[in-house]
Amino acid sequence: MSTTTQNIKIEKSGTSKIDQVDFSNLAFGSIFTDHMYICDFKNGEWQTPVIKPYGPILMDPSAKVLHYGQAVFEGMKAYKADDDKIWMFRPDENQKRINISAVRLQMPEFPKELFYEGLETLLKLDRDWIKKGEGNAMYIRPFMIASEPGMSASPATEYKFMFLLSPVQSYFKGGGGDVKVLFADKYSRSASGGVGFAKAAGNYAGQFFPTALAQEQGYQQIVWTDASTHTNLEEAGVMNVFFRVGDTLLTAPNSDRILDGITRKSILEVAKDEGIKVEVRNVTVYEIEEAAKNGTLKEMFGAGTAAVVNPITGFGFKGNDYELPKLKTDDSYAILLRKRITDIQNNKVEDKFGWRYLVKE
Ligand SMILES: *Cc1c(COP(=O)(O)O)cnc(C)c1O
Repeated sequence: MSTTTQNIKIEKSGTSKIDQVDFSNLAFGSIFTDHMYICDFKNGEWQTPVIKPYGPILMDPSAKVLHYGQAVFEGMKAYKADDDKIWMFRPDENQKRINISAVRLQMPEFPKELFYEGLETLLKLDRDWIKKGEGNAMYIRPFMIASEPGMSASPATEYKFMFLLSPVQSYFKGGGGDVKVLFADKYSRSASGGVGFAKAAGNYAGQFFPTALAQEQGYQQIVWTDASTHTNLEEAGVMNVFFRVGDTLLTAPNSDRILDGITRKSILEVAKDEGIKVEVRNVTVYEIEEAAKNGTLKEMFGAGTAAVVNPITGFGFKGNDYELPKLKTDDSYAILLRKRITDIQNNKVEDKFGWRYLVKE
């Protein structure tokens, strides 16, 4: 069956896979819904988008993405409220950011109207896959790849922009949770003038080797430091990081080496609203080490769409290991800030910042 809605050609899948899925036991990003969205860029313009059954895509083996890594992506979530309405959290930020990433990788920008039309149509088509209730969400993966065949190391003239949908539970149920981190003192994830601020595919591949080494030493993730001095704490692999020293919340300023996280900027606003003292400035490994030694380092946590806030229980630096104190739930900024944000995402409280976006029926 094939129909055309607005500007999208829709080929529905004959049968749904939904009955084969155990929604109470989802490993993050491992299950995909019945449909996916594809829009091709050719001859200098975006073509009529297609929504079709989820499955492999055909590409020439010389496609530039496979050789030169011209690829960018996003990560966002949709939620179903008790009244069955579908909401997203600050999607305008993801829509703008994928184009900021695309420009840095010399790729075409994807038009805002196509982004919303495609995503909302796909979410509505696979709406049964979005489960209600605490912790349940639909993880959305927008991405763009260079599909033009050819071995010359130059930007492609053909691209594919796609949306995939993957149902997720609370990150903590899906095997996430408390992490110990290693502060980087040798490897780097990004450098000034580079692509660290972009969600470019290669930024992640480059972290796998040093992260595997850190894991052999008992750390789950690395907190990257500036590439030239390894002094300033920047961010983790897919999360921005926050430090609570005394009752002040610290995080690094944005730069071209750091991903401008939407969770990070939401936390900064909510923290200020809570009357928490916030400082956005360079945070050095030495001051955090000193604070850990003298007992003023109370919390560290990562911030990103997948986990919202992910507590860090300890860190290692140059052979020394530090454990953070166990705070009571009522005393934790991480828990307070996570609740304030997830309550907005799940439509439980007034949206005083204007962050929720209703998917129109
Ligand atoms: C995606 C990502 C984040 C978190 O960004 P959010 O918009 O909060 O999801 C932080 N750092 C890196 C490197 C990332 O890729």
